[in-house]
Formats: sequence, C-alpha cells, structure tokens
Amino acid sequence: MDRAFGDRLNPEELEALKYASWYADQDQSLEGSFKHGMRFRSQSVAEAQAALRNYLCVQMRNARNAASRSDALFFLGMAMHALMDETSPSHAGFQIWRGMKKRYSMHNLIHVLGDSQIGWYESRAAVEAIRGYYEQYLK
Ligand SMILES: [Zn+2]
Repeated sequence: MDRAFGDRLNPEELEALKYASWYADQDQSLEGSFKHGMRFRSQSVAEAQAALRNYLCVQMRNARNAASRSDALFFLGMAMHALMDETSPSHAGFQIWRGMKKRYSMHNLIHVLGDSQIGWYESRAAVEAIRGYYEQYLK
C-alpha cells in the first residue's frame, strides 16, 4: 500500500485502505475464497475468477457511489486486498482454500504477520494491480 500510494494519498487515506484490507481478511469463509484469490473444492478456477471479477466491479461501483471519501476508500481497499492476494505466490492460480481448519496455512501466517512486513504485498505485481484499480476508479 505504501509503495503503491505513498506519493498520491495522505497518511489518513492510506490507513483507510489498510484498514479495509485487514477487514477483508475477517472473511475466511469458503464462499469468500475468491476474495483472497483462491477457490473452494467444488469451484472451478474459472468460476472463482468470474466471482472475483464481479466482486471487483461491485466494489468499484460502491466506491463511485459512496457518500464520503472514507467510504469510497473502504470499498477500494476491500477490492485491493483481493488483488494483492491474487498476486501472492502462495495463492497463485486460485488454489483451493480449506477454510480456517488449516490454521497455519501460508495465507493465514502471512496475514497474521501483517502485509507491510511481507515482500509480495509490496511486489511490483501487487503494486501495479492496485494502482491500476485505483486509476480505473479515478476515471
Ligand atoms: Zn486475504
């Protein structure tokens, strides 16, 4: 987040995005797998991708229609979480998410440690994905 928006958002706005990204991780349900670039067992990769694309569109619409700047950033941050997870090597290719039973999976571990400490959240792919999403929002 810092690397992607440090030069275009103020600290409060950055915090709003980070909070939304953290909030997105409170949904570790199977049905919500696509929000982390993953899928559940009976779901195909194509279905998970379609669910994610739809989710990104809905969040974008919500952000554009939001009553306030902070509300808009919340919707954008939720979507950005999915984009960042999707670019993560531990999620690559919509792997199967088994829910919280697999407590110490890479995904959970990464999020427990916090995104700022994890290299891939600041990776070029992640930065480009969320910047692109934000630019789409500005159009
Ligand atoms: Zn996640």
